[in-house]
Amino acid sequence: MPQSDILIPGYERVVCQRGPASSLDAIVAIHSTALGPAIGGVRLYPYASELDALSDALRLAKAMSYKTATAALNLGGGKAIIIGDPRHKTPDLLRAFGRLVESLGGRYITAEDVGTTTDDMDMIAQQTSHVVGRSGVGDPSPLTALGVFRAHRVVAAALTGSRALAGVHVVVQGVGRVGSQLCRLLAQAGARLTVADLDDTAVRRATGEFGASAVAPASAHATPCDIFAPCALGPVVTDQTLPELRCRAIAGAANNVLAQPSHGAALQWAGILFAPDYVINAGGLIHVAAELDGYSGERVRARVDHIEDTLALVFRVARSRGISPGEAADRLAEERITNGHGPPAPITAGSGPGGRSRHPQPDA
Ligand code: NAD
Repeated sequence: MPQSDILIPGYERVVCQRGPASSLDAIVAIHSTALGPAIGGVRLYPYASELDALSDALRLAKAMSYKTATAALNLGGGKAIIIGDPRHKTPDLLRAFGRLVESLGGRYITAEDVGTTTDDMDMIAQQTSHVVGRSGVGDPSPLTALGVFRAHRVVAAALTGSRALAGVHVVVQGVGRVGSQLCRLLAQAGARLTVADLDDTAVRRATGEFGASAVAPASAHATPCDIFAPCALGPVVTDQTLPELRCRAIAGAANNVLAQPSHGAALQWAGILFAPDYVINAGGLIHVAAELDGYSGERVRARVDHIEDTLALVFRVARSRGISPGEAADRLAEERITNGHGPPAPITAGSGPGGRSRHPQPDA
């Protein structure tokens, strides 16, 4: 098997495979297994170059480490990339990838991602047991939406002093699988909803079912509201959109809401509270990872509910250290990865540098 390792500082292992026999052109990046085997989806995408694929694998693997760490999972972070066109994937390609995963001896656990499906995980599972998210496991979106909803309670507390969402105005950008489930939970809690989607049918469903108002997709981010919930695609906060934002807080399911980490500090200075995406959209990951220790709906639900406490902790750390919530989440993740197993390590208030901000002062 033409497999080779690339040494990348900060990463435990990065393996590349190119093979005429299988036509598999793949990279597996294992960022950290300090908390357990590295979990992360396999992305099948026609990258323009191997360097592009490698940099995406590295970025996404590290992000998974931070996500598992803050979700209090005893799992590490990894990511796999297959360079190719998803329209041309074959059982042979998927089985070859399964053998690559198997060759890593359980240090990397694969899952569905962009360009791969639950059926593909079934095919990969013919070659390795280190795979989650097979068909029949159930859609993770409702659990992702539940985690975001839990986060909205903490954000509401920071804005109004109460975790109740009745009367809180939320703009949901993207009412697909996660966004529509989020609308359902928010409507049940009495929130006032505005939605936007490129798909008119999805908008009509949300306005009909949840009594939401609708705005054009291009103006969702600029709609005055309490919470802006990006549930379409990132990035959402960019140099262009930042001055147009009219929300008091941003908390959504989309990955990479901020175009750059520096936008976290910019939001802080603008007085807009940001709930870090990887902290609050971990519900789906918690759902698929639960397969590894015998799925228990009760345990999954408890872990997803815990996102509320984790976000409250992130906000407390941000406030006490005078840093943005994004930085606070990163620090919590890094400390847990360094300290090993167990719940996120307690953080001593005021142990970091102070700072001024017009940030809402969350007391949740
Ligand atoms: P989805 O494809 O079901 O829904 C996305 C919706 O956004 C679609 O209805 C689409 O028409 C709409 N959309 C796309 N661009 C838009 C724009 N510019 N303005 C308004 N609407 C737009 O996806 P999903 O599964 O609901 O996931 C939503 C986001 O959450 C994605 O970024 C995804 O990566 C992230 N996420 C999802 C999960 C999960 O469990 N599904 C888990 C973690 C993170």
